[in-house]
Amino acid sequence: MDFQPFIERYREIAINEIRTINYATIGGTYYQDLSFIPLYCNKKDCDCRRAMVQVIDPLKSTDPLAIISNGWEQLSFYKAWGRGMSAEMIKEFKGPDLDFSNPQSNPHPEFVELFKHMLEDGVYAKRYPRQYAQFKLKIGMKLAKDVAPYLGLMQPCGCKSDKIFKFCCAPKNRL
Ligand SMILES: [Zn+2]
Ligand SMILES: [Zn+2]
Repeated sequence: MDFQPFIERYREIAINEIRTINYATIGGTYYQDLSFIPLYCNKKDCDCRRAMVQVIDPLKSTDPLAIISNGWEQLSFYKAWGRGMSAEMIKEFKGPDLDFSNPQSNPHPEFVELFKHMLEDGVYAKRYPRQYAQFKLKIGMKLAKDVAPYLGLMQPCGCKSDKIFKFCCAPKNRL
């Protein structure tokens, strides 16, 4: 699989930023806890600008109930990036939308509705492009000019250390 959990590259930030929703009913099933786990593409030469978000009920299993593809760029970006791909695939890149390339036990569209609602919180929504930039930096990709600013190099680190990212969790050998 080309997608790797963010937590495997930035443990402290991921632990601090993983979002959990309590008490939700999705497709008629009641969940006490739903965790939204971000994964990013670990190919150095692929600027795909999206996250895979695994929705997990951590009390029951680590197998994803649903996987949401979350692409934050404009549709025009994915059209240019995915030249030659079908319009349907490209539409899926610009998320959030269910991703059907991997197994999931309850890929109910209501998970996407819940996730969209979560994204209305701008602080949460902005984490995705930021984590993407941080992830790609860590695996040694040269960041595009319009991706690099998302890193938040001089902003407070997501691990809540009170230090700025550059002097905290940033990979020193990549800066
Ligand atoms: Zn990619
Ligand atoms: Zn940090």
